[in-house]
Amino acid sequence: MAEEKGHATLPAESGPEELTCPACGGPLREILSTETPQAHDEDLVHYRCLVGHTYTGGDLLAAQSAALVASLRATLGTLEEKVAVARRLAEQAEQARRELLSAYYQAQDAEQRASLLRQTLLDGQDGETPKAN
Ligand SMILES: [Zn+2]
Repeated sequence: MAEEKGHATLPAESGPEELTCPACGGPLREILSTETPQAHDEDLVHYRCLVGHTYTGGDLLAAQSAALVASLRATLGTLEEKVAVARRLAEQAEQARRELLSAYYQAQDAEQRASLLRQTLLDGQDGETPKAN
């Protein structure tokens, strides 16, 4: 049978989860105020970081929601920048494709003109000399 670890040694001020202080990013400790309840304080659980930022459960939820919104805004900003860069690259690729197509058609046109001229010169060698102006 596996031995249960930690349960007997959990200090009174601790939580099972590793929570992060929204203000400073440090670890948060859960503080149960069952031993010193205050009449005006309906929150039995508080959270405090090493720096001293303290939160009620509601404060912590609100701060986490604000952090989520900020994080999502940052993600949205990154996505919008990615769209801008990808569009720029696509425009450059389109321009390069147009230039490549233009060069291809110019080469094809020059090749046809060279072929016509070559044939004209060859026809001239077969019989009569091409007339000079
Ligand atoms: Zn803090």
